[in-house]
Amino acid sequence: MSARRPLIAGNWKMNGRKADGLALVRALADWLAGEGAAHRDRFDMLVCPPATLIAPVIDALGGAPLDVGGQDCHAAENGAHTGDISAWMLKDLGATHVIVGHSERRTDHHEDDEQVRAKAAAALAAGLVPIICIGETEAERDAGQALAIVARQLNGSLPEGATGTNVVIAYEPVWAIGTGRTPTAQDVAEVHQRIRAEARGRIGDGADALRILYGGSVKPGNAAELMAIEDVDGALVGGASLKAADFQAIALGC
Ligand code: PGA
Repeated sequence: MSARRPLIAGNWKMNGRKADGLALVRALADWLAGEGAAHRDRFDMLVCPPATLIAPVIDALGGAPLDVGGQDCHAAENGAHTGDISAWMLKDLGATHVIVGHSERRTDHHEDDEQVRAKAAAALAAGLVPIICIGETEAERDAGQALAIVARQLNGSLPEGATGTNVVIAYEPVWAIGTGRTPTAQDVAEVHQRIRAEARGRIGDGADALRILYGGSVKPGNAAELMAIEDVDGALVGGASLKAADFQAIALGC
């Protein structure tokens, strides 16, 4: 059993109107205060709503032990960046984390490791924990390059000043996101072990405390098996985080 407390993080992506987000967070808060309370010391829980819902979701928490994060941030603090949101703005609302480098950002917005590293550095400077996403495509896995790609992305995306506790890494194979497919337990173990080894090269023994999440089609039915894998320290959950019952069941899989 690892000393790292698992983080169960929900990435709502571009889903939810205000009423949906509030209903979801209230259901999670009720569960954490009720049935879930007995299990609370087994995991940390985080939701990352769309930016429009961060403030209302935080207001609706009512002191529930649930963190709220953003799904992306700009690398600058302020300025002429129409449509963007800075890490400082997220912090100002009460967010604690921000996802950076999600594969949907890397693909849809052509973000590369250098940009992801700058965003992660901004998050650290603003006092947020960046959740840095890395992961290979299906073609890269088929070509036997998964470990090399993940190592390259990790080294390229990890900011100066990263420690084992001020950043979180999420391994998300691109081909497993939203597809219902997951790597074998052995493949997940191999990648997570490699990530920790690379992180050790960068941040030394602090890497022992680094939380490395698995993401990509995590569901109630596979969560326990995935969370039991060595060096897996929680989950980044997309689709299944939109239903309180599913997200709770995943947390109970820790
Ligand atoms: P999924 O998404 O759980 O819907 O596969 C995970 C993610 O993109 O973070």
